[in-house]
Order: sequence, then C-alpha cells, then structure tokens
Amino acid sequence: MIPVPLLTTDQINRLPERAREVVEYRKSGLSLNHIQGCSLGCAYCIRHTYGLWDENQPVALMSDAQAVEELVNHRYFQPHVTPIQVFNRATEPFLPKVRPHTFAVLEELDARELTNHVLVITRHQLKPYDIDRLNQLRHLKVTLLFTYSGIDNKEVEPYPSHVAADSLKLMSAPTLRRYRTILYWRPLVPGLNDTDDHLAAAHELSKHADATVFTGLFYRDQIAEYYKANGIPEPYEDTARRKIVPETLEARVLDTFSNSSALFRKTSCAVSYAHNLPDYNGHYGIRELCDICPLSQLELCAGAHRVPTAEDVHQVARVLPEADKLQVVDISERAAVVSGLETEQPRYFLQHALGFQVHDQRHPHHAHRHGRADIGWKAVSA
Ligand code: SF4
Repeated sequence: MIPVPLLTTDQINRLPERAREVVEYRKSGLSLNHIQGCSLGCAYCIRHTYGLWDENQPVALMSDAQAVEELVNHRYFQPHVTPIQVFNRATEPFLPKVRPHTFAVLEELDARELTNHVLVITRHQLKPYDIDRLNQLRHLKVTLLFTYSGIDNKEVEPYPSHVAADSLKLMSAPTLRRYRTILYWRPLVPGLNDTDDHLAAAHELSKHADATVFTGLFYRDQIAEYYKANGIPEPYEDTARRKIVPETLEARVLDTFSNSSALFRKTSCAVSYAHNLPDYNGHYGIRELCDICPLSQLELCAGAHRVPTAEDVHQVARVLPEADKLQVVDISERAAVVSGLETEQPRYFLQHALGFQVHDQRHPHHAHRHGRADIGWKAVSA
C-alpha cells in the first residue's frame, strides 16, 4: 500500500533535476529521498535549495521496495559500511503519511541483515508504538536525531520545538532499546535562541539523550540571508562583532555543558559515540574537535585512526568513474587533500570507505573552525 500518492513518470520528469536524484551522498551519509514534500514549513528548510519549497504535501517518486533496491545497488553503497540517512532532505520521516514508508524502508534494509548506521532526523511527534516497532529491528544501527532549537518565533518555526523535546524524552525513556537517541540542537542563532535560559533548557533536555550535537548558523552571509529571509532584525551591526559572537556562543555552550560527557560538534561523532564505535567520518585527525570528547571515545577513535597512503585513496576511488581525474594533493595526520572531483558526493564516499577525513583542495578547512563553513543555512534540513 502506498499511503502517499505516487507521481507519474511525466510528473517526475517535470521535477527539478536534483529532486529527481532519489539517492544522494550528503555529509553524514548516503541519503534516500523517494518521498518528498513536507507541511511543517520551517523557514530555513533545505528544501528551498532543491526547488521543492512549494511541495507541502508528501508525494512518492517510487515504491519503498524500489527505493531500497536503488539504494543498496548504488555505486556509493557499501554493505555494513556506508552510513544511510532516510528522508532527511525533502520530507519529515514521521509525518503521519510518511511514517509507514520510513518503517517500510528500515524493515526492508534490516531484513537484508545490513548493519549500516541509519540516521533518522525528526522533529515530529512520536508515539509509544514507534518504540516497539523500532525495537524489532535486529541488524541496523538506528539513530533518531531530534531537531530542537528552542526558537519560539512562529515565522521561523511554525512547528513548536517542544514537540521534538517531548518525542526525545518518550523515545529515550525505555531502558532496553535497540536504537539510539540524539538531541540535535540546531540551529543556534545569535540573538534568537542563545539566552542563558535557552542554553539551560537545552542542557536539561540533553540529559534524556544518548548524546547531543550542537550546530549553528555561524557564518555572516548565512546568518544575514537567514535574518533577511525571515524579516528578523539583525542583532549586530559590525561584521567584527558578528565574527566574535560564534566563539563566545560556543564558549557559553561548553560552559553550560561542563558537567556533561556527551556533547559533540559533529553529527557523526555523536552517532558513533552513541553506538560505542569510532567516528565514521574520521574526525579524530582534526585534533581540536576532540577536546570535548569523553576519554573512552577518544581511545576508541585513536585506536581506529589510520592515515591512508595515496595508493589506498586511489584504490578505494577505483570503482567510481567520476573519480578518474582524482589526484591526492597531500596527506597528513588530519586529512587527505584531493583534487579532480567535480562534486562533493564521491569525496564523502572516500571518506566513509577510509574512515578518514578527505578534503577538497578547493575548499580548505581552517583550524579551530571545525569545518563550520559547511554548516548552517544549507546544512539545516527539516
Ligand atoms: S574522539 Fe574526536 S573524532 Fe572521535 S568521536 Fe570524539 S570528537 Fe569525534
């Protein structure tokens, strides 16, 4: 049964090109998006960037079985290795109409005895029934990430943050459960949700979760775009102050969480920690990221950290036709720097296959900024 309408081939052909790409590699995993459209209306939703904003009712591009086939046969998919994300780009996985599809995909993957990470990002209301159904999955490493901002401006987030908070509490409560829960605290926006009370509320909520990730809209252009788009008065006048604020904010976040041992800057770090595994994105090489990480986790990641040779990188890339011009420019303890890749997707493939950071020469990472140029407006999905 298909609870959401299945588009005809003609309708699919009229979609924007990227919307037609049902399997796409994104930073935290290979993303499956055969259901598209969402009614929650978050102002910063990533659907804006896919030409999908007007789709406020979910539609299906294919059946769940077809979609899973497409995923597991994709050239980027590696059984037991590739982290998967379900419906993180174009819809909300626990909308009442979408929920059956979410479970169908999870169950279909689990029936194949795949042990990959699966990330499910939600802000919707969850039900006790969801606990039971998720607990029946035997093989997948499922993580529920609850997007929570504490923003109470209805123009920005018409769907209230307390729903995600309640869902996180509900889903985290059972002592015996096979899935993990994460407080996905984002976006942290200076002037909008960064008072001491906001920070204290997030800290309180984090006590329910297996781990917490915090990210923001830290960069000037992204913030400006965000404020303008939402008609929110910009809180700072000069650019220098804007630049200082994120550092100050991060320091306040760390201070608020000083007695917490499960706070992370990176999604993959939190997900990996929650499953007692080393970070699948190999962030361990970026040493300054790990200064807030629990010792046991540091040891796990240190044990798994292996700097690849250029030959290793080429060997892994060999299966990708789009990587035929790949060059390894540099390899350090931190990352392999490559050139010759036209898009980001093959780079994520290399990164996950090697468990090591792979950076593009065109987008150098700056020490102590934790790659945050990549995070924010474009990384915050519904
Ligand atoms: S040790 Fe570093 S790389 Fe590993 S989970 Fe912690 S922060 Fe992430």
